[in-house]
Amino acid sequence: MEVEVSEHIQRTGVWKPIWSSSRSRWLQACPRRYILQYVAGRGGRVALDRPKRWLWKQGRWAPPRELMSRAVRDTLRKWMFEAHARVLWTLPTARKALENEFSQALEVQNMEMMKLQRRLQSSKSIHRPLSESMKKEILKQGELVLRRAYNHPLLGELLKCGFHGEWQPLDPFTTTRTATGTAYLTPDIIIKGPQRWVLIRISTNAWKVEPDDVGVIESAGMLLWAINEPTLPVKTEEYEIARISHTEKGWRTWRIPAQQRILEDVRVLIKTDLNAARQLMIKAGPEIDIDVVPLSEKDWRCRTCGYRFNCPGGSDLQGAKIQQMASEKAMRSAIA
Ligand code: SF4
Repeated sequence: MEVEVSEHIQRTGVWKPIWSSSRSRWLQACPRRYILQYVAGRGGRVALDRPKRWLWKQGRWAPPRELMSRAVRDTLRKWMFEAHARVLWTLPTARKALENEFSQALEVQNMEMMKLQRRLQSSKSIHRPLSESMKKEILKQGELVLRRAYNHPLLGELLKCGFHGEWQPLDPFTTTRTATGTAYLTPDIIIKGPQRWVLIRISTNAWKVEPDDVGVIESAGMLLWAINEPTLPVKTEEYEIARISHTEKGWRTWRIPAQQRILEDVRVLIKTDLNAARQLMIKAGPEIDIDVVPLSEKDWRCRTCGYRFNCPGGSDLQGAKIQQMASEKAMRSAIA
């Protein structure tokens, strides 16, 4: 894996970090995963060069329920764009779209795991395709989330083309250049309310309605996007930020009026994270020596990490940390 990483960096030259809330969390939770996916695998979504593409795809590995959550999010996004263009989808149309998204995601993941198995030349099977009965069960849960969205007062109105105000679904995968750095900040939906603009993030899989403290600051990233948009107001008090998330109890809304303080907080968060990412790169060196990059804090993170099959943390995190500390100590003694 180390050879693939350094090869990639030599070919692509300078690396500039991009901020997103998930990258921010991985940077804290497992710096090694951050480097593997966002540095070595950067651009792998569309790249043809193999190490980059493999690393990106390996990092995208997810348990079937997480694949379903992504399929629901993608289906809802397509549905919103169609509704905005006044194309009315019925619930069965949305269900069919969801089934296609999920089946495709499973198929791609199965294929990638077979390729990874060949590359690792491992005799032990690293992947078991999902049984038909399990697939049906997970699909049923995804359909329930869609049905609940259809019956939700706001989401339902938007999806049924029944909303009469000004609104716009957006692509959250577009980046924003800010004075602090480049970041993924675009909301999923913006609505012009009677008093304020509402910037909405849709989350298809949340533990609870209210985001944690860091989550509140991350949500303020939407505000940074809005004030950077030439067609939108620049004053913070003209916005509300909201998260509509699907929890065990159904779709729930959290919303707060935007404040200057959280705008400052998100600027600081982005700046701090981008600096931490640069420091990590300096630590890894120009050849990206992945062995010196810190491993995950907690071993439960490794259980659902796509790199666990060839990262030493995946089989024995504590052992791998002891080994890493011993190597660093030996290196320091050699230099002294
Ligand atoms: S297996 Fe664990 S230590 Fe290795 S990259 Fe994944 S989360 Fe990090």
